[in-house]
This record gives sequence, C-alpha cells and structure tokens, in this order.
Amino acid sequence: MGGPVRIVIVGGSFGGLTTAYELRRHLGPERAEITLVARDDQFRFVPSFTGVAMGRRRLEQISFPLAAPLAAKRVRFLNETVANIDTASKVVSTDAGEHPYDFLVIATGHRSANEAVPGLGPFDGPGHSPMSAGETAELAEAVQRLLAEPGPVVIGAAPGASCIGPVYELAFGLDHLLRRRGLRHQVPMSLLTPEPFLGHMGMGGAGTIRQLLEAALEERDIAYRTSAAITRVTEDTLETADASSIPSVCSIIIPPLAGVEAVAASEGLGNPKGFVPVDDHYRHEVADGVYAVGVAVALPPVEGSAVPVNFPKTGHMTEQMAKIAAADLVGRLQGHEASTNELSARCILEMGDRAAYLAVDPVRPPRNRIPTVSEGRPWLLAKIVFERAYLAFARRGRLLPTALGW
Ligand SMILES: Cc1cc2nc3c(=O)[nH]c(=O)nc-3n(C[C@H](O)[C@H](O)[C@H](O)COP(=O)(O)OP(=O)(O)OC[C@H]3O[C@@H](n4cnc5c(N)ncnc54)[C@H](O)[C@@H]3O)c2cc1C
Repeated sequence: MGGPVRIVIVGGSFGGLTTAYELRRHLGPERAEITLVARDDQFRFVPSFTGVAMGRRRLEQISFPLAAPLAAKRVRFLNETVANIDTASKVVSTDAGEHPYDFLVIATGHRSANEAVPGLGPFDGPGHSPMSAGETAELAEAVQRLLAEPGPVVIGAAPGASCIGPVYELAFGLDHLLRRRGLRHQVPMSLLTPEPFLGHMGMGGAGTIRQLLEAALEERDIAYRTSAAITRVTEDTLETADASSIPSVCSIIIPPLAGVEAVAASEGLGNPKGFVPVDDHYRHEVADGVYAVGVAVALPPVEGSAVPVNFPKTGHMTEQMAKIAAADLVGRLQGHEASTNELSARCILEMGDRAAYLAVDPVRPPRNRIPTVSEGRPWLLAKIVFERAYLAFARRGRLLPTALGW
C-alpha cells in the first residue's frame, strides 16, 4: 500500500475524540492521516449541562478547545460543518471544502426533533432543554428568571425521547436550588415522563432504581406522571394527550432525537430518522469503510410501550462504541479480527445534594448481572471528580482509564 490511510472523523465530542485518541494510539502518522471535523471548536462535558442549567457550573468550566490536544496527537482539526457525505466516491463535503477518505467515522450526535411536539424549545418554541451548549445557556437564564418570579414548573420528556436521565437530574437539581433559596413553597413542580414506570430510561429499568426514584420524588413533593404524552408546550401551560393542561411558567422538556441534517441528507447513509445503521463492530451495514458511534447510531428500543421511549445512548456507551470501532478499523489495517462486546452502562444521576449510581450489564435486558443501584452524597462527589478528571485527561490527549470512569 502507498501513503498513509486517510481517516476522517466527524464530531469532536465523546465519540469523535475517543475514536481519534484510540486510533492514534495504535496507528502512527506514517500509517494514518487522521482528520477530525467538528462544527463546534470546543469539547463539552455534556453530562454537566444540567449543572450549568442550575448555575452550579459555567460552560467555560466544562469545555476546552479541541485544536491544541488534537495537534499534539498529530490529528488535523477542521472546525467546519459537514453538509454531505458521498459514500460512493468517499468524500465528506463541508462549508469550507471537500475531504476524501478511505475510512470515515461518524460521531455527529443528535438533532433535537423539536418539530415532534409544538412548543418544544428553546429556539423553536417556549419550552426549554439542555440538549446543546446554546440551549443550556438559555435554560440557565430561564432558571434565573424563575428564581426572580417563582411559579409552577413542569419538567419532562416528550414521547419518543431517549435521553431520560437529565429529566430526573433537572427535577432534583431545581428542587434543591429552590429549597436553598427558600422559594420551593412558591413553585409547584411536576415531572412528566413517557416511561411506563419511573427509571425505565429506555432500557427496561434497572434493579431498584424505580423504587429509589419514586421515593425521592415523593419525599420532595414533586408530582409525577408516567406514560405521559406531552402534546403541546405554551408560554404558561403544558398539554397532554389525555386533554389535561398543567400550569407551567417554565417547561423543561427533553425532545425526541433524530440524526443530524448532514447524515439525513446523505444518500444511503442514515435510516428515516437520520441515525446510522451499524453492525456489532459499528461498521455501516452497507457503505464501505464507514463507521458510526455514539448518539448518531441507530439502536432499536428494548420494547414497545404505551407512549414510545427510545433506547438510551449515554456517554459511557459512546466511549465503548468508539473503542470497538477503532479496534475494528485498526484490525482491518493490521490484518486481524477485532473482538466486540455488548454495551454496558455506568452512570451517576445527580439528585441535588446527593446522587444515585447505576450500573447495568448489558444495557439491554435480560442481564448477566443484577444491576447496581446506590444512593448517597459520595456519588455526587464522585461525579464532580469524574468530570474534572475526564476533562484534565482529555485536554492532554488521554482517556481516563476505564476503571476510574463513568
Ligand atoms: C443534558 C444531558 C445530560 C447527560 N448526562 C449524561 C450522564 O450523566 N452520563 C452519560 O453517560 N451520558 C449523559 N448524557 C449523554 C451523553 O452526553 C451523550 O451520550 C454524548 O454526548 C454523546 O456523544 P457523541 O459524541 O455521540 O455526540 P455529541 O456529544 O452530541 O457530539 C456531537 C459532535 O458532532 C459535531 N457535529 C454535529 N453535526 C456536525 C456536522 N454537521 N458537521 C461537523 N460536526 C458536527 C458536534 O459539533 C459535536 O462535536 C447526557 C446528555 C445530555 C444532553
């Protein structure tokens, strides 16, 4: 073979960055020319968006510019927006040019499908959500306005949502913030979820998380409804399919997700929702040399439910997918077969002044292990330490050792 193989990675978050670091660990610059293209020039520690929304963290504290660590790894960084991917001629087209590839890794995350429910926001309607840095900054301002002018609040997820954990984190976080300010008695709070039961989270539940969440919400006077189908968000109400209208001056609703426009617009790449169909090595089912990892991947729901809930794709799962895809790509170049694993998940769910730890293996039931569910203040400390450690490692071109992570 001639010169170095050309690998293009699209996305600079958990999926893209992990893939870049993993590939470079195994393939030197003489073997692979790696280019990472991302429309945001920053890495963001997305799980801390809920902390930013509550005013506990600032976006700058959970972000770092991608250029320097990638340059140190001899990964070319392009701060460009991909518009189209031609899988036949193997070319990625951006707002700034064309980038041919031999291998492509798609790690573009999601688009919030706000069109699914009228009023989902913040930029399409009066609702709020923490699904991107810009939306999180807007939500943080909405929370400050609520503190100045308290009123009823609904926090929830729309039908078809897959990212349910933040619903609970936001409800507990806001409850905690309001109590600290002595304002909780002026803010009736409701949690509305499409899940058939609390803690289903699109993965069929996990051990005793349901009981833990029920007790925690009841203890804190947060009213909740499961199998709730939100149909409209207005400036001061939230409507559901059973014709109820709940007063809410601040509706924080997680939307259903879709694949990004660039994937949806590229022929033969995504499914009708714009997610990328892959095999168990995260190779595209059809397109040669194409991989996808993270939220961009198409993964079916675990089961049907009265109101649809989709399969979660967490940061920890994204990291595993990136490692499997990178190992497979390296294996193809070095002429050996790489192994793969079913996805497991570990996550820490913030609950105001404490947190719950959840570990499932595999994510999709039935499971080999009884899920671990634990609650307490040390888990909140663990999450804070994890965020800082992850960022400190990642900005130096390293991944936090798995045993310490998530
Ligand atoms: C509020 C919130 C809280 C969460 N909490 C947790 C948690 O506690 N634990 C956990 O494990 N997971 C959590 N998650 C999930 C976790 O954040 C995601 O799994 C993770 O961010 C997915 O990483 P990704 O690389 O697939 O995509 P993303 O993080 O969405 O990143 C997508 C990347 O693609 C780039 N991109 C997109 N489109 C284009 C384009 N057209 N051209 C160029 N670049 C493009 C973006 O700039 C970005 O760099 C949370 C998610 C949210 C929203």
